[in-house]
Amino acid sequence: TDTTASATAAPSGAVLDGPALWSAQAQMPAVLGRQLVIERAEGSYLFTTDGRRLFDGTAGLWHANVGHAHPELAQAAFDQMRTLETFHIFQRFANDRAIELAELLAGISPIPRSKVLLNSGGSDAIDLACKLARRHWQREGRTSKQIILSREHAYHGLHAYGTSIAGLDFNREGLGTESLVPETARVSHDDLAQVEAAIERIGAERIAAIVSEPIQGTGGVNPPAPGYLEGLQRLAREHDILLILDEVITGFGRTGEMFAAERYGIEPDMITFAKGVTSGYAPLGGVLAAPRLWEPFYVDAPDTPVFRHGATYAGHATAAAVAIANLGILERDGLVARAAELEHVLRRELEGLAARQEAVVDVRVAGFLGGIGLDERIANDRVADRAIEHGFITRPLRGNTLQLSPPFIVSDQEVVDYVAAIELAITEEAAR
Ligand code: PLP
Repeated sequence: TDTTASATAAPSGAVLDGPALWSAQAQMPAVLGRQLVIERAEGSYLFTTDGRRLFDGTAGLWHANVGHAHPELAQAAFDQMRTLETFHIFQRFANDRAIELAELLAGISPIPRSKVLLNSGGSDAIDLACKLARRHWQREGRTSKQIILSREHAYHGLHAYGTSIAGLDFNREGLGTESLVPETARVSHDDLAQVEAAIERIGAERIAAIVSEPIQGTGGVNPPAPGYLEGLQRLAREHDILLILDEVITGFGRTGEMFAAERYGIEPDMITFAKGVTSGYAPLGGVLAAPRLWEPFYVDAPDTPVFRHGATYAGHATAAAVAIANLGILERDGLVARAAELEHVLRRELEGLAARQEAVVDVRVAGFLGGIGLDERIANDRVADRAIEHGFITRPLRGNTLQLSPPFIVSDQEVVDYVAAIELAITEEAAR
């Protein structure tokens, strides 16, 4: 099957129509007529409306860590909705599930004595963390500290803050101004001396925080250069800049530790999380915040400030119940330790691939998270399309990279088969 047929057909210039659903991050004419519509799943396998069975080699958008259609998570949602679907957490209201989840998260947080702010996803969490960083410095009276630094190739979702701090520039294009939130700046993704020079150029007295993924995901599966995260932490501390670690992908086991902060020995001021907290079974995200951020808002005094943030679904009881059940499954089934084992299998297979295939420029593995860098003569999106024809999903990312991040429930053999299928797709594409 020529999966690129629609891309090569001569465009007519006519306005096409199709389903009412406007897809995300898609050039619509290129996807109309060739959408993969998933209607059912079992564990690591997806089933499409046109009868395909696909191995979910990316865990969706790096979220389905316990696999799909897990009956216990369905049951948790059902039970919670029958008891209390949700009640908001504004002012003196709360719900018992949100409280229980926050206790659980504070208990596993790499930040001692964390408080937990909840909302609906990763982009939400980033907006919240950046606002809290600015609020912190305003409250401290250091009002010029407003700029949020982020790294080249960074991806932090697409709300106003995520868009503004995107290191993937195409996500900030076409919106009329250089950035929706003006007080932002990009720094080097791997060179600490350049980061330090940028801090000196901008002035630490103007910088509120630096945001970093521990391992860049959408930017091409880029593990940190040795010492980079530690160096970032040192620079942040020296210059009194808050460090926000975006663990939306890496949180809850992907790196073989509960959080990547533990893998790299980092203690940030805030951690953003989403995806893996519910394995995607309910939209939920949030922020773990260190005492220096929350204590001033907890002082027993008449003029104690309020952090003016919140949303109807912050602390959503059903989402929280699903998260609690998901964390229970991770623990009971030993899935974080299993992810650490699977890292070795993935590394072995990818190193073998790199040794055999000239078209593979490099492979990058950190946790159960891999990237295959392809030679420029071979297009990653065409390889990904071919892999789908063989029944395996991989995702093309920046830098002519392919993403590999299956659910933690796969067998060693499934990893072997997955890499073999991608190798076949690479060989076919190279021979074309
Ligand atoms: N931060 C990182 C590191 C991500 O990878 C993503 C999504 O892929 C986000 C933030 C945004 O999360 P969401 O899509 O849930 O809004």
